[in-house]
Amino acid sequence: MIKENNKKVAVIGAGVSGIAAAIRMRNKGYQVSVFEANSFPGGKCSSETSKGYRFDMGPSVFTMPQYVDELFELSGQNPRDHFNYIPLDPVYKYFFEDGSILDAWHSKEKFAEQLAAKTNDKKEDIIKYLDKTETIYKLTEEVFLQNSLHRLKNFFTRPVVRGILNFGKIGAFDTMNSANEKAFQDPRLVKIFNRYATYNGSSPYLSPATLNVIAHVEIVKGAFYPVGGMVSITNSLVKLGKDIGIQFNFSSPVQEIMIENKKAVGIRTAKGTEAFDIVISNMDVYNSYKKLMPGIKRPEKTLDQPKSSSGIIFYWGIKKEFRELGLHNILFSENYEEEFDTIFSKKSIYHDPTIYLNITSKHTADDAPPGCENWFSFINVPNNSGQDWDKFIEESRENMIRKINRVLKTDIRPLIEAEMVFDPRVIESRTSSAFGAIYGNSSNNKFAAFLRHANFSKDIKDLYFCGGSVHPGPSIPLCLLSAKITTDLVK
Ligand SMILES: Cc1cc2nc3c(=O)[nH]c(=O)nc-3n(C[C@H](O)[C@H](O)[C@H](O)COP(=O)(O)OP(=O)(O)OC[C@H]3O[C@@H](n4cnc5c(N)ncnc54)[C@H](O)[C@@H]3O)c2cc1C
Repeated sequence: MIKENNKKVAVIGAGVSGIAAAIRMRNKGYQVSVFEANSFPGGKCSSETSKGYRFDMGPSVFTMPQYVDELFELSGQNPRDHFNYIPLDPVYKYFFEDGSILDAWHSKEKFAEQLAAKTNDKKEDIIKYLDKTETIYKLTEEVFLQNSLHRLKNFFTRPVVRGILNFGKIGAFDTMNSANEKAFQDPRLVKIFNRYATYNGSSPYLSPATLNVIAHVEIVKGAFYPVGGMVSITNSLVKLGKDIGIQFNFSSPVQEIMIENKKAVGIRTAKGTEAFDIVISNMDVYNSYKKLMPGIKRPEKTLDQPKSSSGIIFYWGIKKEFRELGLHNILFSENYEEEFDTIFSKKSIYHDPTIYLNITSKHTADDAPPGCENWFSFINVPNNSGQDWDKFIEESRENMIRKINRVLKTDIRPLIEAEMVFDPRVIESRTSSAFGAIYGNSSNNKFAAFLRHANFSKDIKDLYFCGGSVHPGPSIPLCLLSAKITTDLVK
């Protein structure tokens, strides 16, 4: 039973983090209105259909489902009545140019045993490595994931002191690649573990080995497939929000955050201004300042950090089924270092890109016509600094088809019967993410975690931020945690 307090909150943006923040504020008794620029919810976590194929347009790998469940439980509902997911095993299929295919299994033991059997590395070395990633998780979870990093009092808690005393163990002074090269002899294993840098839109050759923690989350804690696809996260949370009395306003872009005497007092949309006691912006924080508060002094140091990579995505309807592919597939480039150098230093596209193929029709048959598959075909590319994206799209299509044909030993060109394309410009216009960067600031330096914007404004009272561009970072679970940290700050 919600204890009403009659105060009003505006949430700007119905991305998963904005919806989660709205649900949490409603449960605290606030009257909550969500304003979403698009005619649909979910931001990056949305869905489209074309010629009988359904696609999740953004996220596809789902970890830490408990943070979705928590929102139902908080609202007095059983999550299993509204939202369901199944554990994946194997999680990934990795394809290499030498023709080898390695499966990444769920659980430390099985993963290590299966990979040791097919690579030059020993099972005990793989387990030792995964143990290290677990240590990083235990040392960083409460410090980085559960609290605001920007409140001084949070630095005097036992977990934070323990984290600081064990700073050497979290890999902050090594890069991911150098830690992974020290751990493994087989270059394929180095690539598999280096790839986790891309979950943050970063380069494993620049980002700290602390990010190896992601391997623990995915391999040991596990990855899941939401029944109905990733968009069911968005849809089930919007339904929950409506059930508990949140007002959703779609096609309602917020044009300004109203500020008086250093306090957020409301918002302005095309319909006019509306007063609110609290404003929470789920809009990318860079653009929240630039577009909604142009008169306010920007926190330049955090906002102007280098941004993450973006993606070119071909959503392909393929009129054939490929038994060798699973839900999550990676086709690795030969020269991973050169690929990342091309993306981050040259800000260009690589001729032999690592390709991620996500095929939800492997689990949800209705996502493609009978005998067909829906391929979300993704490559990492730089964020938008004015490159010729139309040319890059044409080149990428050729590069990707050439590579897929080589690895799968089939010509897929005549099999493509539907196509939609996203590039950084589309991601930028569809979600207002600065420069079309998918993950906000990049993590290409060891202080990156400390250089994300706080979940609140230090200068403007009653103004808060949540989502992938602020603390603790991008990905569905971190965005849900971001909403928790943000709303916990509202007293
Ligand atoms: C291609 C791709 C692949 C990804 N893969 C994964 C993955 O496999 N696993 C994973 O966990 N994460 C993944 N991510 C990241 C994940 O999707 C994001 O971190 C997360 O969805 C971001 O949620 P959010 O709520 O912070 O923001 P967003 O989803 O960006 O939502 C922000 C919302 O605010 C709205 N908005 C912006 N400005 C205004 C305004 N002025 N007025 C009103 N509304 C406004 C936007 O329209 C949008 O709906 C991926 C993302 C992409 C794009």
